[in-house]
Amino acid sequence: MNGQEKKETAAAPGKRWDVSFETRCQGMDLGIEDQYHAISYPIYQTATFSHREAGDTEGYHYTRAHNPTRQQLESIVADLENGTAALAFASGMAAIGALMELFSPGDHVIIDADLYGGSGRLFNTISKKNGVTFTIADLSAQSPEALFTPATKAVYLETPTNPMMHVTDIAALSKITREKNALLIVDNTFLSPYFQNPLDLGADVVVHSATKYLGGHHDTIGGFLVVKEKKLEEKLRYISMTVGSALSPFDCWLTMRGIRTLAVRMERAEKNAIEIANWLQKSPHVKKVIYPGIPSHPGYEVMKRQSRGFGAMISFEVESKEFALSVLRNVELFYFAESLGGTVTLITYPVTQTHAEVPEDLREKNGINDRLLRLSVGIEGVQDLIGELDRVFALAAGQ
Ligand SMILES: *Cc1c(COP(=O)(O)O)cnc(C)c1O
Repeated sequence: MNGQEKKETAAAPGKRWDVSFETRCQGMDLGIEDQYHAISYPIYQTATFSHREAGDTEGYHYTRAHNPTRQQLESIVADLENGTAALAFASGMAAIGALMELFSPGDHVIIDADLYGGSGRLFNTISKKNGVTFTIADLSAQSPEALFTPATKAVYLETPTNPMMHVTDIAALSKITREKNALLIVDNTFLSPYFQNPLDLGADVVVHSATKYLGGHHDTIGGFLVVKEKKLEEKLRYISMTVGSALSPFDCWLTMRGIRTLAVRMERAEKNAIEIANWLQKSPHVKKVIYPGIPSHPGYEVMKRQSRGFGAMISFEVESKEFALSVLRNVELFYFAESLGGTVTLITYPVTQTHAEVPEDLREKNGINDRLLRLSVGIEGVQDLIGELDRVFALAAGQ
């Protein structure tokens, strides 16, 4: 794996299984055992649970609060992230929205300058309206130490970032947040637990859009918060149950099925991405390739230390806006669509899609211009993907 050592993560404390990540993706005996020992965990598609008499319970009352299928999925994700608990939400944004309910008017949060557009929108509108204040910093380049105030409750980031692939040293930052008694929150969507475990590096909360690599098949929306501290878990469960944003049983089942192949999908997608990044670097039509697996990428060394791979997301800048628009118009083998992390390759135009709502000055400062394209590389045959890029580049150049 790109000369990076494949570190096997040990089973979480108290876990019976001390086996490889690939095996843990199969979700053996982690949640509640099914009475018929079904290999595919059943979908408990029920709103409510009955009781034999007052005071009697099997531990389940109402699916907004608890559901066996959800509990099974949450156990698998907690295990893969080396956390003590995971909470499944109806979407990545539902997870982040619930997380922000931890904060009160007057609280202050330091956020990275390059974030998923939807997260920025949430912070900038709803959280702000609720009285939470924010300071934006490029956490990949600057220590936020001077930005803390007595009201600072958390630091929030993604690494690598979307779409500019800035890399932040999680362990170094966690020393500061611990000293300042603030939460370190890391959105790990881009790498998935297969390549990176932020809790092991000192983060307090891991965020996932399960819509992406965890689900992995472009067929369901979901999100997670993963923690390693009981008190925080209890607060978040209270919020989830109260606001009612937990993932439905069927979507839990789909996500579980996706996770079974997480390891093999991640491995193949990254292998394809490395070949495509190399090919793009040689193309005369490409001005810049932004992929953290390229040794000249400023985050390469940090990622080699803190991750087990570089992922399968590539941003690249072409020669003109017209060229970029032509590429988007002509792709046939893969799709011009938002989202990422599935089996099929997707090409995205961040300036009008994922980052349309980022204020223009911040967008430009971050390098998100009208020549930038983003690829979420899938698990297809790489020769087909390169052939398609070659074809649409030739069309764009000839127009
Ligand atoms: C997609 C995404 C989200 C939001 O997740 P949804 O499932 O779409 O609500 C959050 N963070 C990152 C990095 C994402 O890519």
